[in-house]
Amino acid sequence: MFDTHTHMDTRPFEDFELMGVAGVTDVLTLAHDPMRMSTADVLVDHFYKLIYGEVRRGAENGVSVHVGLGVHPRSINDQVDTTLAALPDYLEHPAVVAIGEIGLERCTDVEERVFRRQLGIDYYPKVIHTPRREKREALERIIAIVDEVGAKDVVIDHIDPSTVDIALEAGAYVGLTVQPGKASVRDAVELIIEYAEAKFVVNSDLSAQRSDCLSVARVMHALTIEGYADRAYKACVQNGRDLFLR
Ligand SMILES: [Zn+2]
Repeated sequence: MFDTHTHMDTRPFEDFELMGVAGVTDVLTLAHDPMRMSTADVLVDHFYKLIYGEVRRGAENGVSVHVGLGVHPRSINDQVDTTLAALPDYLEHPAVVAIGEIGLERCTDVEERVFRRQLGIDYYPKVIHTPRREKREALERIIAIVDEVGAKDVVIDHIDPSTVDIALEAGAYVGLTVQPGKASVRDAVELIIEYAEAKFVVNSDLSAQRSDCLSVARVMHALTIEGYADRAYKACVQNGRDLFLR
């Protein structure tokens, strides 16, 4: 299985161990806002930790950790242009397979500028955060910007039954985050059964918030029991590999 959205730097060693035991072979760990991002250096050091720290902790448990780097909307500070200038050098590391997570939180002008700039970076797939508050409005704005920039290979993430219609219309990969406060295992199972043609990727968004390192394994298991092993494989394994490990 492939958990396509995590923040492993917030999690204990034991989570890697449990995921490995459950059959999670690949994890994408994304840049976020684990501390106050007071200067450009703090965020660049965070990139460094993901590439050199989390990849090693995964390997010690038989889990391949892949990295997504970028400026999360909550990480924007007044030195953001310095961070954006440093980003391309870090993207060249072989563990890095994506830009993320990026997106909008409060839909401010600076958030939009930083989001557009990162969407414009060629070659890498992008993992796009959508906020909890005023989600439909933010989602519509995000999709409009993705279209304007012409960005390909994007995951619109944190989609649930209340927003799946907008995300599917965009034709992007649809991220189902199974976490308290976002989608439940049951929500994910029902969406995957209902929309046969959609390109879903299931993830846990493991973070310092309440989260479940077995989210992807639970969705895979439930779908398999219900007779949808093929759909389970696509959403929990293959789609993530096709997008991130080309
Ligand atoms: Zn996240």
